[in-house]
Amino acid sequence: MSFPFDFRPFEIPAEFDALRQEVRAFLRDASSEWTGWKIGQSWTGFNREFSKEVGRRGWIGMTWPKQYGGHERSQMERYVVLEEMLAVGAPVGAHWIADRQSGPLLLRLGTQAQRERFLPGCTRGELAFCIGLSEPDAGSDLASLRSRASRVEHGWRLNGRKIWTTNAQDCDLMIGLFRSDSSAQKHGGLSQFLIDMRSSGIDVRPIRDLTSEAHFNEVTFDDVFVPDDMLVGIEGDGWSQATAELTFERSQPDRYMSAFPLFCTLVGTVRDSAVADRLACRRIGETYAELVLLRQMSLSIAGRLAAGQSPAHEAVLLKDLGNTHEQGMPGLVRELLDVPATIDRPYKLSELQAILTEISPMFSLRGGSREILRGITAKGLGLR
Ligand SMILES: Cc1cc2nc3c(=O)[nH]c(=O)nc-3n(C[C@H](O)[C@H](O)[C@H](O)COP(=O)(O)OP(=O)(O)OC[C@H]3O[C@@H](n4cnc5c(N)ncnc54)[C@H](O)[C@@H]3O)c2cc1C
Repeated sequence: MSFPFDFRPFEIPAEFDALRQEVRAFLRDASSEWTGWKIGQSWTGFNREFSKEVGRRGWIGMTWPKQYGGHERSQMERYVVLEEMLAVGAPVGAHWIADRQSGPLLLRLGTQAQRERFLPGCTRGELAFCIGLSEPDAGSDLASLRSRASRVEHGWRLNGRKIWTTNAQDCDLMIGLFRSDSSAQKHGGLSQFLIDMRSSGIDVRPIRDLTSEAHFNEVTFDDVFVPDDMLVGIEGDGWSQATAELTFERSQPDRYMSAFPLFCTLVGTVRDSAVADRLACRRIGETYAELVLLRQMSLSIAGRLAAGQSPAHEAVLLKDLGNTHEQGMPGLVRELLDVPATIDRPYKLSELQAILTEISPMFSLRGGSREILRGITAKGLGLR
């Protein structure tokens, strides 16, 4: 049997330590200005001013060509910036999707005019993108989506419904997947469109989660006109275009670092209190070992992506293990500290724990659910 996973050791070169210190110092100084967001939500925390400042510092579109406002730096430098942002739960939502997948998609498949029009705004933190894939009856089985794009003079008319669209209420643009040819087979006849979220006919309705936040939405399209030049890539090729994005979406540190601020706070609390017994040390040690392993896996995938490869199976495995790790963190806090902790860290442990308990069920749904990921792994191993 051939083993489908290829993880190679990868380290971030020491020469990027200075960048890490620079980002860390910026985040320390800026943290007092970020009001109105909750720690632990990180990339669902939407703060335009924060993103513009990050853009001014050259930390969005870091690897993109300079001609589109990018900085032509390495994937590993970008990785350093991502890690530092997530480590403190910074509110990166206004630039995260553009930086992680919409921008790279346009660089790969967009027209020259699309790149020139949209990428510089992304790198300045001024253009926010959302992802329009899931529909009410098409989540895991995405290819059964029914929202359609009909040809009209000079463009397309979009009709249908998208759901769970993160930050749609605040975003400028969506890259949405629509059925442009209903006679084609299930995975064919799908196309991706750049959609101006202010177009007439778009209705965005918030959906509240357990924390009563409304960061995701239902988006309805009622005869929305999209001009010809907003088609992304090849008409009818949307399935392979959209699924290629998923390797980027599933392999980054945001797939295992959602609970990192809670872990740091837990370690600090245990260290400062009388509960640093053998059990606490052992459990924290085990969890730390998991983190080191996940980071190595993620770095290995980042290294292979930078080399132009597409380690899709590895990304699936990382996301599954990473989600399990993140979801276990609130339980670890309960296990080690059975009284609400009162020690003030930068963030209150009890508050963080409560938020993470409520939002962590989402971790193994967003970006592909656990069962689906395990199905892909099983297929890779020849078990299905
Ligand atoms: C926080 C969050 C943010 C999101 N943001 C976005 C976004 O910005 N844009 C976007 O397009 N989507 C977004 N999503 C949607 C996400 O991609 C879907 O929730 C996910 O793909 C699952 O689809 P579903 O919710 O329809 O669940 P379903 O597909 O109905 O699945 C429900 C359950 O059944 C299981 N299941 C389904 N099919 C099978 C099968 N064949 N075998 C075994 N088990 C199965 C699933 O694993 C899951 O546990 C977001 C979701 C969350 C939670």
